[in-house]
Amino acid sequence: MKSLYFITGSQDLYGEETLKRVAGDSAEMVKYLNGKLKDTVKIVCVSTVRNSDEAENICLKATCDKDCVGVICWMHTFSPSKMWIRGLQALKKPMLHLHTQANEKLPYKTIDMDFMNLNQSAHGDREFGFICTRLGIKREVVVGFYRHDDVIEKIRAFARVAIALNFSRGMRVAMFGGNMRDVAVTDGDRVESEIRYGWNVNYFGIGDLIEIVDAVTEEEINGKMSEYENKYKFATDDIKAVREQAKYQIALEKFLARERISAFTDNFQDLNGLKQLPGLSVQDLMSKGVGFGAEGDYKTGALMAVMCKMAEGRRGATAFMEDYTYDLTAGSEKELASHMLEVSPAFAANRPEIMVCPLSIGGKEPPARLVFDGIAGDGIAVSMIDMGTHFRLVCAKIKLIKRPEAMPKLPVARLTWELVPDFKTGAAAWLYAGGAHHAVVSTALNIEDIKLFAKLTETEIIVIDENTEI
Ligand code: MN
Repeated sequence: MKSLYFITGSQDLYGEETLKRVAGDSAEMVKYLNGKLKDTVKIVCVSTVRNSDEAENICLKATCDKDCVGVICWMHTFSPSKMWIRGLQALKKPMLHLHTQANEKLPYKTIDMDFMNLNQSAHGDREFGFICTRLGIKREVVVGFYRHDDVIEKIRAFARVAIALNFSRGMRVAMFGGNMRDVAVTDGDRVESEIRYGWNVNYFGIGDLIEIVDAVTEEEINGKMSEYENKYKFATDDIKAVREQAKYQIALEKFLARERISAFTDNFQDLNGLKQLPGLSVQDLMSKGVGFGAEGDYKTGALMAVMCKMAEGRRGATAFMEDYTYDLTAGSEKELASHMLEVSPAFAANRPEIMVCPLSIGGKEPPARLVFDGIAGDGIAVSMIDMGTHFRLVCAKIKLIKRPEAMPKLPVARLTWELVPDFKTGAAAWLYAGGAHHAVVSTALNIEDIKLFAKLTETEIIVIDENTEI
């Protein structure tokens, strides 16, 4: 399990007795937090930091520890912050500054100078906050008594984002083919993506995959077919076409494992050697948290994998989606989101049906795909675009709704949603912000999660929510 270091700051000025109390309180707090957060992250209590050498040592240790995804810092007493400069300069892990106290209530009747000197985070955390701001350190500040539920949940949310950032650093992304010809918004600066997010994005020829596809055995396909039978309803007699997709999925799984890849893209313009466009195969992989971006959209694919990591252990679905068409009936406008094949069954409201239908794009044999209507609930749509000078995240609140009517002639999976704060404002804001037609949609995550990701990666973010005005 990944860990967060719990670093308590103090100094030598107060003497042994006080430092003993500081250490004891910190241990007690960590014990309590571990009880509450044990399903998410392990909090590691480290020795109280009293001087600049100790600050530097613990920050270096946190930076080098592969299991450590971030640090929680708290100043129990006053801790002069020049002593934190070298340490904070060495720290390369996300920080949560926990502004709390060992005591909830102020003991008005008994408080004396000793108590006030021991419990002075109002004083010490301000000194620490200043040096973080002076050094330009992006961090999450959480304020409140450490046993309060809202504080615990903020620490949990931070831990999830920190775990996702740790995963993001060093994540490998494969592009089968390049970006779709002439399309702008799906393209991007792959070098900058690796510098900022750690995404190692590389091109692979589709021939690398075909080799593995050709070596898949009938027995392996039988195994994958029974996996499909358990999860999906067969609404086709064309079993051969479904087996073809099973073969692609097996090959993709082998390729991803061999190359240690967490997200991939394909491009229907470059699939020579495959009889069908990958449909069902990609859909099933997405539901397992493998990042996917269509038409060479590596940014959305990689972002999907990171957001799926962030959403681990939470209820809801997270996957790549595309804005497609609207119902513009005045006052009840809706968006229909879909893709030519690749919609994750994580979004399915009903048991997905496997269908085999011709596709007007791609010039291939009719591909097997999963068809279903989408779930209802609160969600977000997150798009990452390359502005040339920097990346921008556009994060919009959306309301997923039950399909208003059946769409029997539409042989692809689809979601229906309403924009926030209203259709016209939400859509115009997205267009002004430059948001793409591809996004990662999630009903598991919220805007705060994405804002924290943006803050800790120093990414520009535009939020579209109920308070948005053009
Ligand atoms: Mn697309």
